[in-house]
Amino acid sequence: MRSWVESANLADCHFSLLNLPYGVFCADSGQLRCGVAIGDQVLDLAELEAAGLLEVGADRPVFDCDALNAFMALGSSAWARARARLTELLVAGGDSALADDSVLRARALVPAASVQLHLPFEVAEYTDFYSGRQHAWNVGAMFRGPDNALPSNWLHVPVAYNGRASTVVVSGTDIRRPLGQTRKPGAAGPEFGPSRRLDFEVELGAVVGQSSVMGEPLTVAEADAMIFGYVLLNDWSARDIQTWEYRPLGPFQSKAFATSVSPWVVSRAALDPFRIPAPEPKPALLPYLQRSDSTCLNIELEVRLRPAVAARATTISRCNSRHLYYSAAQQLTHHAVGGCRMNVGDLLGSGTISGPEKHQYGSLLEITWGGKEALKLDTGETRTFIEDGDTLTLTGWAQGDGYRVGFGECTGKIGPALRKAAWGC
Ligand code: MN
Repeated sequence: MRSWVESANLADCHFSLLNLPYGVFCADSGQLRCGVAIGDQVLDLAELEAAGLLEVGADRPVFDCDALNAFMALGSSAWARARARLTELLVAGGDSALADDSVLRARALVPAASVQLHLPFEVAEYTDFYSGRQHAWNVGAMFRGPDNALPSNWLHVPVAYNGRASTVVVSGTDIRRPLGQTRKPGAAGPEFGPSRRLDFEVELGAVVGQSSVMGEPLTVAEADAMIFGYVLLNDWSARDIQTWEYRPLGPFQSKAFATSVSPWVVSRAALDPFRIPAPEPKPALLPYLQRSDSTCLNIELEVRLRPAVAARATTISRCNSRHLYYSAAQQLTHHAVGGCRMNVGDLLGSGTISGPEKHQYGSLLEITWGGKEALKLDTGETRTFIEDGDTLTLTGWAQGDGYRVGFGECTGKIGPALRKAAWGC
């Protein structure tokens, strides 16, 4: 399927006609509105809606606003309708209402290079899971030894903690190194100051597009139908703060200072063709958690690190979403099963995605094995953890035959911590 937007037909273009990811952008007017990425352009959905070319069954405009939540709240029939209509308007030889109207085209199709991308949806709440088996094993082996690496609940429960929605930021937002309490190995007590073991985590974020009712559990199939789409997610983590604070209730400050997400939400529908058979869980999961279709997503993921002084970035991890043990639908099912109400705009982090090989590990904690084995970058620098001025970039895509359904990038640069004499640092 070719688009008349020629840049969308390039084999390595993330935003092909079969993708159509949703985001929020701001062009010259300064007004935030919803758009879809197509090739090197952004299609302004508010313009299409106003022109009467995009009708999704709402009684008021849903794209002339600063978040996707109103559109998501309409539900899966509206999502399918929008996708079908946008495909029809953008495919070569399809409905020419946009392609042949030069005035509308000039208003509605904006070069991506000229717009600013914003957080695509209002994040209602953020929960971070821990569903990468290799990651959980690696971290467990480091802290408890290989014999007790996986906690006894891990193969039965999608383990998670409730994170902070307030500090979920869009790709490109600078991140300040966090301050916190840490305790050096062997020290008598804690100290306060900038984290010395700052890390990234490569994850997928599932965006919940429908709400559930408090007290009413979901089936896995129902949960799957509530997922609007996925983003790239970097769960920035301060390992030294985490090590000192995490017992007994899990991460708190170590994960609350920032979570970066990609500006484009790739819809569930766009990723459905890239489902592959999921490995059989052993032991079998309890019936309420069993997959409805025995598939998982096949998305290639890469992480690049560029020090401020380096000429270019080094790819430091190559992994794949197939290494997740629990799907987003299973996570959402487990989240709601006790009675928790889920809302439009909830964000579920997958957990760090690490493959079985060392070059597939999804955090510096694993790549440098707790900071013991320095990582050598292509440009000569070494790293154990992230240093001030470093830029981390996640990218990901599903590979089709001659085309891609991609997420673009999720990037963030670390700046120095704030210090104050009154804080003793
Ligand atoms: Mn995480």
